[in-house]
Amino acid sequence: MIVADSQSRDLKLDDPKLHDEAGRLAALHRYEVLDTPSEGQFDRITALVRTVMNVPMAAVSLIDSDRQWMKSCPGMPAQQTSRDISFCTHTIQKRDPLVVCDALMDDRFADNEGVLGSPYIRAYVGVPLATPDGYNIGSLCAIDTMPREFSPEQIAVLQSFAAIVVDELELLRIAQTDFLTGAVTRRGFVLEMEKAMARNRRGGHAMSLLMLDIDHFKHVNDTYGHPAGDQVLKMVSNTIGNHLRRGDTLGRLGGEEFGVLLQDMDLDSAQQTAERLRAEVEAAVTSHDPEIRVTASFGICALESGIRSTEEWLATVDAALYEAKHAGRNRCCIAQAIAAS
Ligand code: GH3
Ligand code: MG
Ligand code: MG
Repeated sequence: MIVADSQSRDLKLDDPKLHDEAGRLAALHRYEVLDTPSEGQFDRITALVRTVMNVPMAAVSLIDSDRQWMKSCPGMPAQQTSRDISFCTHTIQKRDPLVVCDALMDDRFADNEGVLGSPYIRAYVGVPLATPDGYNIGSLCAIDTMPREFSPEQIAVLQSFAAIVVDELELLRIAQTDFLTGAVTRRGFVLEMEKAMARNRRGGHAMSLLMLDIDHFKHVNDTYGHPAGDQVLKMVSNTIGNHLRRGDTLGRLGGEEFGVLLQDMDLDSAQQTAERLRAEVEAAVTSHDPEIRVTASFGICALESGIRSTEEWLATVDAALYEAKHAGRNRCCIAQAIAAS
């Protein structure tokens, strides 16, 4: 038996975004949340859902093109399932909550492998996670192994928590873009590094990392003032960004220090890229009167077997950058291989 499935047919007619799967996937992927590590704010919400709804399982579920991936899923046996067996796939087709009081009595779910086998779902309530621009990217759901009803108050609480989940995702998205330069923030950059390391482990794709720091930048601020310094930061960021390929990432790691993550690039090509970027920064001039020119020093480090974490990768490329500074600035240095263990 299904409850709360009312009006969905009418809603769909004047709600085209419920049918715009390409737009929905683009909205989901903008958050860059899939396959990221667990984070406290989402785990706290699912823990609260379990308590308030009195259920053994709760999940922040995101519906990708062919899978359901869960950012947080206490009590659930797996973080990922195929999309076709996911209850939440049904939830995102509507605006209102989907309530299933007994899955065995529901044609859509009675032969579902998650109902007949682990985790033995019998009751489900899911609220769509609707983005500010109106796409249902997933659901916040509560699951029980016994048939049961959910009270209107419990469903209202779940709806409020679902809104908080979307707020948190939005905050993370905003926090991943540096306001001044438009580059990815350090946090976003490290997440991209983690993904690159996972790609490298899975498919052996070469990955390289550059770190660059503007030379004598303090002098720019001291001579021309802080706003002119900001202009230089934007100029360097634009210069680098304009010379990267789609898929590469530029991050602002600190004040006047940037990282460049180069996908599918080995050390030789990364060295050529770094040298080209160094020359481009050297050639760039600001629109400030008088013109300001700067140079930058670069560290280069290809991902190799000895590097086991993003921290190690950053520390290794940082050491190469330090060498470039020490050797006179406006140059590129390759990181020394770190001992594999
Ligand atoms: P080095 O060649 O050794 O890198 O010297 P440096 O002067 O570039 O390095 P230092 O670390 O001494 O100074 C960096 C300066 O960058 C100090 C800080 O005030 C400035 N800075 C950091 N963030 C910003 C920012 O957002 N805007 C501006 N205008 N300046 C910034
Ligand atoms: Mg500097
Ligand atoms: Mg610096």
